[in-house]
Amino acid sequence: MLNWLVRAIHAPDRTQLERGFHWLYSFVKPQRRAIIGLLGLSFIGSALVLLQPWLTKLLIDDGLLAKDYGMLIQMAIAMVLVGVFSTALAGLNRYLHTQLSGRILFALRTDLYAHLQRLSPSFFGQRRIGDLLSRIDGDVAAIQRFAVDSLFSAVSSIIGLVGALVLLVALSWQLSLLVLVLIPLEIVWLRWMRRKVELRTREMRERSADLSSFLVETLPAIKFIQSSGQEARERTRLGGLNDNYLDKLLQLQVTEFFTHAIPGTLTSITRASAFLIGGWWVIQGQWQLGSLIAFSTYLGMATGPVNSLLGLYVAIQRMSVSLNRVSELRLTDAEIDSPAQPKPLPQPLQGELTLQGVSFAYEGREPVLSQVSVVLPAGQKIALAGASGAGKSTLIDLLQRHYDPQAGQVLLDGVDIRELGLADLRRSVAVVSQEITLFRGSLADNLRYACPTASDEQVREAAREAQLDALIDYLPQGLDTPLGERGQQLSGGQKQRIAIARALLQQPAVLVLDEATSAVDEATEQQVIAAVDRLFAGRTRILISHRPSTLAGADHRLLLQNGHLSTMEEVSRVD
Ligand code: ATP
Repeated sequence: MLNWLVRAIHAPDRTQLERGFHWLYSFVKPQRRAIIGLLGLSFIGSALVLLQPWLTKLLIDDGLLAKDYGMLIQMAIAMVLVGVFSTALAGLNRYLHTQLSGRILFALRTDLYAHLQRLSPSFFGQRRIGDLLSRIDGDVAAIQRFAVDSLFSAVSSIIGLVGALVLLVALSWQLSLLVLVLIPLEIVWLRWMRRKVELRTREMRERSADLSSFLVETLPAIKFIQSSGQEARERTRLGGLNDNYLDKLLQLQVTEFFTHAIPGTLTSITRASAFLIGGWWVIQGQWQLGSLIAFSTYLGMATGPVNSLLGLYVAIQRMSVSLNRVSELRLTDAEIDSPAQPKPLPQPLQGELTLQGVSFAYEGREPVLSQVSVVLPAGQKIALAGASGAGKSTLIDLLQRHYDPQAGQVLLDGVDIRELGLADLRRSVAVVSQEITLFRGSLADNLRYACPTASDEQVREAAREAQLDALIDYLPQGLDTPLGERGQQLSGGQKQRIAIARALLQQPAVLVLDEATSAVDEATEQQVIAAVDRLFAGRTRILISHRPSTLAGADHRLLLQNGHLSTMEEVSRVD
């Protein structure tokens, strides 16, 4: 079935699409029972719809024209009962359908989100966040709509079509031949239109991603845009993106209009022909009026499902675009993963880091680190200096395994970090950088982000040790004060202290301060570093800074230069 679907679709990359369908199917399969139940309800609903015109025929032919008032009353009551039952059934169907759709949609989205969480910073560096958003949101919803809505629409269409055809033939097999001319014509037309629909859909979704990207980039940068006086320019850019999107949306609408309009017109012509021929028979007294009316209604009921079944072609085309865009993300392999059988962290963890012949280059770039070998002894304070762009942050990223070196290895207490569980490693090596990430939520929530099980008492203690008392007194609800979006109302120094309190709760064996204090004045910096020395005494501390004052007092001083790491003593000897 899946292979048939893939073959029916015109898509640039079939393997990707095929894997996409298997991924989708794995979410539909667990809902089998709910789907079968809903299909049963749809079946009853479709049968009730088919019953109504037959009741009308009986009412006209056996009641009205036969002047049988008793029959008229019986049919009227039957019509009311069928109507009430159909409405109740439709309501129940809608509710269960939304429940099923929601379950599948959220499961798909959560799975995609979980996959994205495993990807490296390089991946996110190359992607526009707006495009990712549009894939997780719009494309996933389009896939789910197809998986659920189209399935039910196909099933009720088939039931409607078969039922209507049987009843048409029962009323007049000669007139039913008209439908046989109509259906092949519609199929030929829709096959011709499908490529155009796919192309237009792809263009429309790409323009929609451009719009999301624009908003994601510019809204957080409003302050900078205001300072640069570039509001009008950004509005013009938004206007341009809106126009492009609208343009593609309208092109898609026109294409879809013609895709459906031609079959619709053919249906009207067939219906008119049926009226002309059947009407002539009624005038001649060869056929009953009720039968003609019922025939015309069933004709509409037969062509409706044909249209929606053929419209499925269009729906599959649209969905395949979305499925391809999502599959592309799903098929991006996580370069870094926990080993299948991780080694436990050495106990007690000392925090000695060793780099052995480590070489690293970003894809397609010059090497950042070449054959770097060094031991960072446990419990010591190490200063790491180097010009901007020398690779200091890259080296730290290797310690937390955001990347793996192309050659050599990094050891924590003698164990290759690739053999440790990722979560264990990252809990043991905490990095406080210049960019402090704060989320919506209270100050306390933010403090316990990496350590959600920390008690209120532990949070208060860590906040006190990181000298956050003044901030807590200043905030209206203390630790429970919500910190607005990305903590915009906090100063650089306050954010840094929050990051240190977080690291304190995490209790890492290695603490890295990567230009963490560059945003604050030297006096505050000295206070922060003194606090770190006091609170993390006995743990390995790596300090990265461009300020000599920050690095003063370290046990070891290292310099990263041209991909090589040397001790400052070596550097001064060479000089
Ligand atoms: P600074 O002191 O300015 O923070 P740094 O010493 O920390 O600099 P890195 O950020 O490690 O330097 O960058 C080292 C080199 O790698 C730079 O040339 C940078 O342009 C490049 N680089 C950093 N991240 C990436 C990436 N994701 N993809 C490609 N190149 C990168």
